[in-house]
Amino acid sequence: MLSSDNLQRMIRTTALSFAFLQLFILSSYAQKTLPLAGKVIVIDPGHGGSAATDSYRQGPTGEREEWIDLRVGILLKSLLEEKGAKVLLTRSEDVTFPLAARSKMAVDNKADLFVSIHHNATADPAVNFPIIYYHGLASENAASVEFSRHLAKNLAKYMYKKKTPVSIVSDFTIFSAQGASVLRGSYGIPGVLAEASFFTNPAEESRLKEKEHNLNEAIAYAQAMEAFLTKPVPQILPKSQSKFPPQFQTLQEAERMSPVARRWMQDYQEAKVLMKNKDEASLQRAYDLFSQSAKSFPDSPVARDCHKNRAALLRKLGKTEQAIQEETRVREFYPVKP
Ligand SMILES: [Zn+2]
Repeated sequence: MLSSDNLQRMIRTTALSFAFLQLFILSSYAQKTLPLAGKVIVIDPGHGGSAATDSYRQGPTGEREEWIDLRVGILLKSLLEEKGAKVLLTRSEDVTFPLAARSKMAVDNKADLFVSIHHNATADPAVNFPIIYYHGLASENAASVEFSRHLAKNLAKYMYKKKTPVSIVSDFTIFSAQGASVLRGSYGIPGVLAEASFFTNPAEESRLKEKEHNLNEAIAYAQAMEAFLTKPVPQILPKSQSKFPPQFQTLQEAERMSPVARRWMQDYQEAKVLMKNKDEASLQRAYDLFSQSAKSFPDSPVARDCHKNRAALLRKLGKTEQAIQEETRVREFYPVKP
């Protein structure tokens, strides 16, 4: 027979064992079901420390891109840490930090994921939508394209009240020679450089100053990461230079603020009308206008269609070889319809 003391001790021990068992089950459940637990994530808030020297990265009332990038990066870090991820920020203050050191941080720490946080600028104040860049070719960098799809969905959901197009494009669309430094340097790790919105849009600039909007953006990143890491990560293949389409020269940052660049949508729409004609002069003019639109705004929601139509026109004009190259450009640099 058990004494009351013994009985109480036994109950206590049993209760304790159950508590430990529950804890054990919970933690192994957490490891299996919390996709971010233990993952190394490098967050790179773009730019930094350039307020005195750079007037381009500034909204209509003076809000600066590097400040927004940093605020979102810091919020994202704490959201990810709550979910058990190991997070590294390339910069946690408004200071300059070399591009090569940013990607090196991802490589040295064997990151599972790398995101470079940016916000965009353009001459047309009405423009506002997200653009996500992956490095290189879509057929080789499947993991980053897959992550881009998750991020596109979540940025549209958390940051935009109305339906918005999202551009998912290769970084070679804007840096035609080598792509973006931070993505090139971290190639092999799933990663993107994302421009969540345009601070040159006055209403968006004012939203970007609010913590709630910054937090919504951070939530979009965190949700995208969680969804991406829940499934097996697609393989990233080594880059094969021979598969790259010929370089397509585009306007660079400051040039994209010019009056010619502001015609990107008009050029596209005029080209679409001309394309319906049968005569060669109209087709050639349509081709030139599609080219100009893609050159002015190579990552716009219509840029993919510009290149698709360039390919179709080249076929009509009997330039088959060039048409094939354009079709490759669409497939590898513009894999997703915005
Ligand atoms: Zn930027």
